[in-house]
Amino acid sequence: MRLRVVIPLLSVLLLPGGTAAADPTPPVRDFGNGADRNEEAAGVGESAAKTLRESAPELSWRPDHTRGYPRRTTLPVPQENPADASIKLGLIPHHAIAAKLNQLQAVGDRVSAEVVGRSAGGRDMYLVTVTAPESPSETRRQERLRQQIESGHRIQARTYKAPVFVNGNIHGNEWEGTDASLRVIEELATSTSPQIKDLLATTRLYFNITANPDGRVLGQRPNGNGFDLNRDFVTASQPETRAMRQIMIDNQPVVMIDLHGYVNGTLVEPTTPPHGANYEYDLFIKNAYANALGIEQAILALGYTFEKDGTHPPQIPFRDSDEGWDDWPPIFTPQYAPFHGAVASHTIEFPMRVNGTDYTSLPQAELQRRSRINVDIASASIRATYTFVQNNRERLVGDQIEVFRRGAAGEPSKEVPLGIVPGFGPEDVYTTTFPRAYAIPSGTPSAATLVDFLIANDVKVERALLPFRASGRTYPQGTYVVDMRQPKRGLANVMLEPGADISPRVDAMYDISGWSHALLWGAAVEPITERRLHVVAQPVKLASPTGHVPRGEGPLSMRIDDAKAVRALNDLLGQGTAVTMAADGSAVLPASARQAAKTVADRYGVPFARAASTAGTPLSPVRIAAALSADELFTLRELGFAVTPVSTTVLNNGFDWSGIDVLYVSSGLSYGALNPAARTALDAFMTKGGVVTRGGTGAAFNAAAGLLTATAVAGRSDANGVVKVSSATGPVGSDSPAHSFVFSPRWFTALGPEVRVEQAYATEGPLVAGHWRPNPTDGSGGPEAARGQAAVVSGRDERGAAVVLFGTEPMFRNHPKGLFPQVARALFWTSSTADVLTP
Ligand SMILES: [Zn+2]
Repeated sequence: MRLRVVIPLLSVLLLPGGTAAADPTPPVRDFGNGADRNEEAAGVGESAAKTLRESAPELSWRPDHTRGYPRRTTLPVPQENPADASIKLGLIPHHAIAAKLNQLQAVGDRVSAEVVGRSAGGRDMYLVTVTAPESPSETRRQERLRQQIESGHRIQARTYKAPVFVNGNIHGNEWEGTDASLRVIEELATSTSPQIKDLLATTRLYFNITANPDGRVLGQRPNGNGFDLNRDFVTASQPETRAMRQIMIDNQPVVMIDLHGYVNGTLVEPTTPPHGANYEYDLFIKNAYANALGIEQAILALGYTFEKDGTHPPQIPFRDSDEGWDDWPPIFTPQYAPFHGAVASHTIEFPMRVNGTDYTSLPQAELQRRSRINVDIASASIRATYTFVQNNRERLVGDQIEVFRRGAAGEPSKEVPLGIVPGFGPEDVYTTTFPRAYAIPSGTPSAATLVDFLIANDVKVERALLPFRASGRTYPQGTYVVDMRQPKRGLANVMLEPGADISPRVDAMYDISGWSHALLWGAAVEPITERRLHVVAQPVKLASPTGHVPRGEGPLSMRIDDAKAVRALNDLLGQGTAVTMAADGSAVLPASARQAAKTVADRYGVPFARAASTAGTPLSPVRIAAALSADELFTLRELGFAVTPVSTTVLNNGFDWSGIDVLYVSSGLSYGALNPAARTALDAFMTKGGVVTRGGTGAAFNAAAGLLTATAVAGRSDANGVVKVSSATGPVGSDSPAHSFVFSPRWFTALGPEVRVEQAYATEGPLVAGHWRPNPTDGSGGPEAARGQAAVVSGRDERGAAVVLFGTEPMFRNHPKGLFPQVARALFWTSSTADVLTP
């Protein structure tokens, strides 16, 4: 417990001016981001379905600071898999990595390997530490120094080994980061050079050998759950992401590189604008640019040329492009690492493509030639990076301390001086205004979810021990407080601020531009801006329990307004508990189910209230056939729904609809492409079963199958972000948050009399945070066109089937957790035969 008296601090508001965008020449990307993601994700769900069930329990690894180095851990060697996609390229298959690391650990006293995570498909992830031998007390001292640095305190940098982090193969079919890491580890293990000896005495080099073992083996970009791990850092829905997050929190790298392919010439960050506004960018850019120039020189020194080898010279987006390769969203590893102290971090894209159609169509000898070049270039990048750290160690550690010091002191966002590095202009200046703190009212499952997530990200959260006054109101005891005077305030703010509409400043963005744990996760998050704040508070390690069952007899009700409530409801239904859905959309249990209510209240933290009666529609488990993207499949199953993935092909091969209550369509199912038998069977199903659709594919299905009378209008396909919405009292709209998320937004016009608007885009905005411009050709598809338009609609078609159409993205990459209940309500409503919620 501690008393905190907070003194005023000068708050400077720094709003960047608008800049005229020059002709953008975005670098060639390793995937297209402009495509409607409905199509991009098509078909992934079916392969994801297979691997999800193979999942092993999650490994929660934490480093042992009581042991010295080397550690000589004997890694278990997996069974040989001749189908590993790496083999064709002459690269190391996943099953051979453990034996190789066991051998490298035996070479001398410099290499230690540990299993630090397990993939969605149950495969081991290996963290290798290369450093000069340490006694246990030296290891403990290194950890003490790391903690001092993290609290923003000056240390004797000469005694601290600077941590460097090399992340390999996060995209499974961008293989060579793994092989280059192994090559460099072997060099370091066996080198007799005094320079290497000095390197290992002054640094710890960490290698995450493959961040995506599933993808490496299967030759695919995502992990076994179908998730792009390099988009998951704001959500950490996947075990691999959580393992990488822990590596960065525990080891606090001053520099990190993330090894990818394939962009020719080799792409080396730093990036184009927009730049994330929550970084200490003045410290970051000077180091990141300097390291990039060193990496460039190291690659050029290899002597590869376009004429001889097919490789173009390296490119640095910050220097060589105007926009299109930005560091705005902290969803990528190098854009997440700076919040844990990396003062230089880089995506590096090797030049020679060996995946996609090249993998299947090129001769093996050509593929192996290309991979050899990539391994050379990746190895040169790693060497250049550790040399950069070796040569600038004290300054880099000092800059890391400065990042954390500014946070702990609550200093205002610093405007980066123009010209801090050549080419740093007004278009590069992005700043934010940090509030004094954020208050998160406690007691709801959503608040607990958010607080636990912040803590898992190493953000400090406290709980008020007494009521306190702020922002003109009294917050009760128990309120969570995120003090923005903390070393990792950048990470806290990037998650808790609403975000910004950056549409005016840039035309092209690489990936998403909006996310928000404050607006999309269902918990109330309130910024406190006054500079004087007096809170008696205690640090929180884990959110307080929120489950509650009122005393006494009688029926009990639970609102379906949180993802945990959905899980609790599905759990109850799975146990055979009698549950009815009341007219207000809440789930009601009879008095006899009191014990079951207590169990789920404990397990999921859901609060129950007294109910007047059990009147309503009896609910049963919803059995879903779904043509959907992998993230949606993962989310629905996480919520406890039984989902059978389908597609046009699956239905054309003959599908038994008898055990299905609802069809969900967002990807990979075209009504027009069904053969007559499949169409007849589907039509028969739709005379009684429900249909829920999302996005363009879903809207096309609605039109082709003749369900609801509605015309779907497409917004610009790359538009995405947090939008303001208004919701009606209906089966889907009730209990919905005031914000939603869109990607390739859609809205519905020319609605028939049977169609009810559940949710509409707000008449102001509606974009709150993200990037959404009208189509450049005709000015259509912009946010103005969406104002007040129907975003989610429901109704019964003339056959009697209950239908819901989403123009929003309520399950996008498992992120907007506060929107999941809306989907659940749509599924429960469409699966029930009576329209219980329509008065
Ligand atoms: Zn990649």
